[in-house]
Amino acid sequence: PTVKSVCLNELVLEIVQLSEQRAKYANVVIETSLGDSIPPVEASPSEMQQVFLNLVNNAIDAMDPGGGNLDIMTRVEDNTVMVSIADTGCGIPQANLSRIFDPFFTTKPVGKGTGLGLSIIYGIINKMDGTIAVNSAVDQGTKFTIRLPVAEGED
Ligand code: ADP
Ligand code: MG
Repeated sequence: PTVKSVCLNELVLEIVQLSEQRAKYANVVIETSLGDSIPPVEASPSEMQQVFLNLVNNAIDAMDPGGGNLDIMTRVEDNTVMVSIADTGCGIPQANLSRIFDPFFTTKPVGKGTGLGLSIIYGIINKMDGTIAVNSAVDQGTKFTIRLPVAEGED
């Protein structure tokens, strides 16, 4: 995939727009808190879309039924851009936390989940020398935090 300078704030807004319909239908309120002058990262725009769309879809799934809040935040941290996606959904049991990035691990009914989303995300982030971390509490919610290196010559 073609690598370009990608502005993650713009990408987040794009993903929010793409997800608005589904979020509304699921009673999910999306809030963004985007940092000022976030430097670009070197990425494939379509892969980045895939990463954030997958995380948003997982979050909305986790808040079904009833809905909740989805908070997306961007921030500069040292030489990285940090993006976090936090939901107020079902949370991930401790026993599953070490398995969620494994291919084909899913807790969703057959036909609803392939278990491939997070493993693909992990591969994409890893290839970019980034990191992805998860914090979760059952019945409270889950936060995924991605850190990506600032594009060369952009700090
Ligand atoms: P899938 O969505 O097809 O199940 P993923 O790889 O995207 O596959 O996610 C794997 C599993 O991780 C999910 O089935 C679910 O159990 C858990 N998971 C991922 N994101 C969340 C979230 N935001 N809240 C709760 N559980 C989650
Ligand atoms: Mg998924």
